[in-house]
Amino acid sequence: MEARWRSSAKPVQAPKTTKTVSFEEVSGEASSSEALPLSLHLTNAVFFSLFFSVVYFLLSRWREKIRTSTPLHLVNLSEIVAIFAFIASFVYLLGFFGIDFVHSLILRPSTDLWNSEDEEENEALLRKEDARKIPCDQALDCSVTSAPIISAQKVVDEKPVKLTTEEDEEIIKAIVAGTTPSYSLESKLGDCKRAASIRREALGRITGKSLSGLPLDGFDYESILGQCCEMPIGYVQIPVGIAGPLLLNGKEYSVPMATTEGCLVASTNRGCKAIHLSGGASSFLLKDGMTRAPVVRFGTAKRAVDLKFYLEDPENFETLAVVFNRSSRFARLQGIKCVIAGKNLYLRFTCSTGDAMGMNMVSKGVQNVLDFLQTDFPDMDVIGISGNLCSDKKPAAVNWIEGRGKSVVCEAIINGDVVRKVLKTSVESLVELNMLKNLTGSAMAGALGGFNAHASNIVSAVYIATGQDPAQNIESSHCITMMEAVNEGNDLHISVTMPSIEVGTVGGGTQLASQSACLNLLGVKGASQESPGANSRRLATIVAGAALAGELSLMSALAAGQLVKSHMKYNRSSKDVSKTS
Ligand code: ADP
Repeated sequence: MEARWRSSAKPVQAPKTTKTVSFEEVSGEASSSEALPLSLHLTNAVFFSLFFSVVYFLLSRWREKIRTSTPLHLVNLSEIVAIFAFIASFVYLLGFFGIDFVHSLILRPSTDLWNSEDEEENEALLRKEDARKIPCDQALDCSVTSAPIISAQKVVDEKPVKLTTEEDEEIIKAIVAGTTPSYSLESKLGDCKRAASIRREALGRITGKSLSGLPLDGFDYESILGQCCEMPIGYVQIPVGIAGPLLLNGKEYSVPMATTEGCLVASTNRGCKAIHLSGGASSFLLKDGMTRAPVVRFGTAKRAVDLKFYLEDPENFETLAVVFNRSSRFARLQGIKCVIAGKNLYLRFTCSTGDAMGMNMVSKGVQNVLDFLQTDFPDMDVIGISGNLCSDKKPAAVNWIEGRGKSVVCEAIINGDVVRKVLKTSVESLVELNMLKNLTGSAMAGALGGFNAHASNIVSAVYIATGQDPAQNIESSHCITMMEAVNEGNDLHISVTMPSIEVGTVGGGTQLASQSACLNLLGVKGASQESPGANSRRLATIVAGAALAGELSLMSALAAGQLVKSHMKYNRSSKDVSKTS
């Protein structure tokens, strides 16, 4: 009953849909968009009318008694009934509207704490936030907005597909029977939304599982065709939070982070504040080159050595570069590094790829060179275009040492006062913790590029928001965080060095509506008009800047001994997940 009340008290505007016969309905489960039954409106109207009628009746009776000097406590049957009706309707209306009203008063979002000069006031506000059980202990800005949530995904101007036609029913049956392959729906129907809808319906019937909760409407399925995802049946929603402004190289950035991890955005936000109050961070690009390393095999190690020397001879580089660069006007070969294992040779090609992350581009260039080499080395057996020396989406020392994509170093000097007041710790504690945790602890753990507190948290969240390949988080999160006391021990110098940030602002998921909006927010959407590659390079520096903010805040929370406390307190949902359908 309470669940129905609450969903009715905050009515969700359901998308206007034509009546569709979905698997949820077939299996008897109501979808969430149907959560406002008409009977509730009627009940509300009845109780409203009842309440005002009895109030009017009782007041007029009261006036009458005063006029005739009748004692007020003498009540007849109709007055008793009216009093009961008054109490019942009052309790109903209080329960229905009153609880939400009181909640809205107590849970009203705080003002932006960044603007508050008064540290005491900040603390008080934070304590107030604590009472509300908002998972933001590490952050200073935990404002909760009560504004309606609007899907960031481009809302597609389309009518929901009706699954009631005989033709659709035939197709669904054919998929269920296995006579029509599900993957062929897009090409057969020429309508990606309808294909997804039919596939989803068929899947529901085949598995007998409900897909209620996985949305279908509100997504542009044409935009992912042949590019981002095959056989779609819907899309997963991930909230996007905003950290910042991050003051980096003299510019302010609002950093979008897609995550479901409580505290993460808030913590990064606090790091941004500390950086901002200390005059900002500086980020420098060291290298920009995507890699691909095919593996080729020869009959003898000697032949493999022949090819290695040929490829590493500077005199041959010009020719190889011309062949390689034919793959794209943006691909520019930078070098080839050869590694031998017996009679097998691994050729690690590195090239710049403009604003694209560049995996496709570099692969095409490599294929061109392999085809070219086949003339002079006909005994060369190409085993695989990727021989794992690249090394893509796997932890590998080669990326940590040589770099892959963009190599960036980012630094900031955090004022000692800011460390104390905003980060609630001391320069000394941070330097000591960094040495024992990020450097020594990681060394003892045999870490590979993991000399940091949680760079991958920030990298993943920014990657998902901006349409990067989240699997590349593995090497993109390689990071060494360094901290040192400077200015006679008063201030903190912090830096992150990240040798393999793989990002692009064109291609892949970057062109999808939501992701593209996040890139736009950062001012790096699409191809750079000034110089090819400028947007993706800037994005890499922002990723490093955000990682710096994240490192600063989490390390401070650890140094101040807040982390476990805050996670125990705020990150433990009291919801009984076993009851979640
Ligand atoms: P990736 O190589 O990262 O997988 P894609 O090959 O999917 O990326 O996308 C890159 C495409 O974008 C290429 O076709 C390329 O010609 C085009 N493109 C347009 N402008 C640029 C630019 N400034 N930098 C890189 N590629 C660009």
